[in-house]
Amino acid sequence: MTNVTHLDAPLIVGAGVAGLSVALGLDRSFTVTAPEMGSTWWAQGGIAAALSSDDSPELHASDTLSVSGGLAVSKVVEILTDGGAAAIERLVSLGAEFDRDDEGNLLLGQEGGHQTRRVVHADGDATGAEVMRALTAAVDASETIESLEGRVVDLVIVDDRVAGVVTADGKKRTILLAPAVVLATGGAGRLYARTTNPVGVTGDGIAMAGRVGARLADMEFVQFHPTALLAGKDPMPLLTEALRGEGAKLVDPHGRRFMDRYHPKAELAPRDIVARAIFWQYDRGSGAYLDCRNVLNFHERFPTVTAHALSVGLDPTEHLLPVSPAAHYYMGGIDADANGRTSVAGLWAVGECSSTGVHGANRLASNSLLEGLVFGARVAADVGHDQVDPAGQPMAPKEAFDLPLVAGPALEDLRQIMWDRVGLIRTGDGLWEARNHILELDSVLRRTVAGRVAADLSLMVVLAALRRSESRGGHYRADYPEPDPIQEHRTLIDPTQVDLVPVG
Ligand SMILES: Cc1cc2nc3c(=O)[nH]c(=O)nc-3n(C[C@H](O)[C@H](O)[C@H](O)COP(=O)(O)OP(=O)(O)OC[C@H]3O[C@@H](n4cnc5c(N)ncnc54)[C@H](O)[C@@H]3O)c2cc1C
Repeated sequence: MTNVTHLDAPLIVGAGVAGLSVALGLDRSFTVTAPEMGSTWWAQGGIAAALSSDDSPELHASDTLSVSGGLAVSKVVEILTDGGAAAIERLVSLGAEFDRDDEGNLLLGQEGGHQTRRVVHADGDATGAEVMRALTAAVDASETIESLEGRVVDLVIVDDRVAGVVTADGKKRTILLAPAVVLATGGAGRLYARTTNPVGVTGDGIAMAGRVGARLADMEFVQFHPTALLAGKDPMPLLTEALRGEGAKLVDPHGRRFMDRYHPKAELAPRDIVARAIFWQYDRGSGAYLDCRNVLNFHERFPTVTAHALSVGLDPTEHLLPVSPAAHYYMGGIDADANGRTSVAGLWAVGECSSTGVHGANRLASNSLLEGLVFGARVAADVGHDQVDPAGQPMAPKEAFDLPLVAGPALEDLRQIMWDRVGLIRTGDGLWEARNHILELDSVLRRTVAGRVAADLSLMVVLAALRRSESRGGHYRADYPEPDPIQEHRTLIDPTQVDLVPVG
């Protein structure tokens, strides 16, 4: 008999910037989180917000739209950029300490795709850790938020409404029933062999939402960060975009700059363009390095990057840093409206696991911490109005109870195929090869919880990428290198609900 616990308030799965923002906005809530850290802790560059006198939410919205490949939804973007100043104020009121000048004004960084300086940061390049410190302290001090630890493996349905989750601890399963469920489980970068995402960022929430039939969106759109440190580490250490904002240059092995051949903004071109330029450097048998030697006070301003580089014997003030693109941010995910509502009653999604159209086909740098803060607050307000105590028979996918958690070597094969064939340069032939290879691995992958997630998601990424026979934002097809106006729309997928069995 599986243990069933009835919670008397909404349950939030995930405790990154998005999940904790929801929790802090509700009168009462529960969070449940896997032990591995999500991406928020690792965020370096900062939070974009229109704060300076030469900036405005409209300008920030226009920058967001212009890198989005025409797919961002302007009313959702406006909500994001209008909320910037209030989100920063709120974090400051919770005790977050951002970098300031001698007069106490917030220091604003410059990043690619932004027309002006608007990136708030902490401890130079440790913004995510400071955001998490402030949010976690507020949650710990709250008497109305209860934090649980557990790996959620599936959603529970009662009377066609999401009404809880199944958590796993080894072979033990527990059912948590709740009047509303919010998924805030982060992105899916671990689908790729080269990624900046920490080990917990496996796309679990997206896969489990799909299994109960929630609509998914824009699954082909993965953002590859141009500059991860190429030094044999997994995850690959990120060399924040802010470095290029502060004057670091991309150079070939002879120290010659190459970005001006690809875009008028050179090193500050949108991420997808910089990432592909670096890829082509390697493809031509050359290489790519970040030259940070002209960045003033480097060690003091970029302590996180300094520590990563020194750990592999490189000092950024003396050495060129070898770089490679790496999967970094997932624009695809659970289709959600501007209040985080999904296509299934009782289920909300927020943060990187959601796809609201706020980023379209390509995310503007430093917009995702802001997304978690702004939409987290909106989800909290909406969830507060729609709660139903689950009274009927709970149902869940059968596999939730049968499978071991940890995946075997087949998952590493899958990650390599995704990098080789479904990475930043895609072709129809390569995508078909990836599809066939993933199907060969399918039966082995499906023997574990982690493998099942990866099999489902990777196939959806491949099929969406095959269907989009054009290039747009993070999705680049070498066989269709131009955007096709007829395909200027989001990709929506309605997965078939898997068979559910009575539980509890
Ligand atoms: C190295 C790096 C640097 C970045 N720098 C920036 C930046 O400077 N600015 C910016 O805006 N963005 C940046 N990003 C992106 C940004 O950090 C993320 O998009 C954002 O933090 C996502 O927040 P989230 O709350 O949606 O998810 P996360 O912070 O990833 O949190 C997900 C949570 O869900 C939990 N979880 C996952 N699966 C399960 C499960 N099955 N059961 C239970 N719990 C689960 C995790 O444990 C975690 O608590 C960066 C990302 C990386 C990796």
